[in-house]
Amino acid sequence: MITGRQQVRGKVILAGAGPGDPGLITVKTARYLQQADVVLTDRLVSEEILNEYVKPDTEIVYVGKQCRRGVSTPQQTINELIVQFALEGKLVVRLKGGDVSIFSNIMDELETVVSNNIPYEIVPGVTAALGAAASAGIPLTARGYSTAVRLLTYYKSDIVSDEYWKELAETNDTLVFYMSSETLQNVVEKLTENNIAEDKLLAVVEQATTPLQNLHICSLYNYDEQLKLQSFISPSLVIIGKVVALHEQFKWLENSHSTEYYFKPVNQLTAIENLNKATLNATRV
Ligand code: SAH
Repeated sequence: MITGRQQVRGKVILAGAGPGDPGLITVKTARYLQQADVVLTDRLVSEEILNEYVKPDTEIVYVGKQCRRGVSTPQQTINELIVQFALEGKLVVRLKGGDVSIFSNIMDELETVVSNNIPYEIVPGVTAALGAAASAGIPLTARGYSTAVRLLTYYKSDIVSDEYWKELAETNDTLVFYMSSETLQNVVEKLTENNIAEDKLLAVVEQATTPLQNLHICSLYNYDEQLKLQSFISPSLVIIGKVVALHEQFKWLENSHSTEYYFKPVNQLTAIENLNKATLNATRV
């Protein structure tokens, strides 16, 4: 609990911005952005959304995180900023890429607002799996191909039991891996060691739903020849399953062949500025 001025309570809106294409934001989130006093935004949020919906006098604070870059805004700083702004009576929109509850730190932020008695609302967004599937023409639970989807992530340090890998290789569920392009080699090895069926293909969708989208598809058994040396542009999402073959029939977007970034990498200055700001503000509470 962060103690301080208790009398005024603003409100915190935890909202998803969708996967990239600014058209994929919900009307509800767009309306909250138009009313916001402060927007705390992630790296994977389209600049166009901020430009289009946020009023010129609204304060925008970049609190991006980027795995393995070592320049992320610490979660504690984000929590403190949320509380400080809310205690000033402000309408705070905490804007996250995709959906707010999928592979995000929503728990920390929910615990923070609840323990500080700050009113809040959760507004969902289109998660990257759904955005990527749509823009790649891959129906995730196509009849006759798959009856379920699993949203997964895999870090090398994760302990995943041998039984679970075996089950992942055997299931007909479509597998979607978030934040896993750097461990993809490992994922492919585990699934092929467990004899995943040859008709299950692998797709990597880079910068899905943006004008810079690229899609790579291969058989898991040809991964070494076809994709092993590829370094994927962040953010990228991996889809594995029989449904991936449907791309050939239903693709409606060509690869951009661009290697530029749609979402700017988190820059050191932003992270440090935020840290300083939080430190300064901490004395004001
Ligand atoms: N809350 C987000 C996920 C955050 S985790 C959501 O619901 O989508 C960040 C990961 O999401 C990235 O590493 C990547 O795997 C995936 N991701 C987010 N946006 C993406 C995009 N436009 N294209 C491809 N992958 C994306």
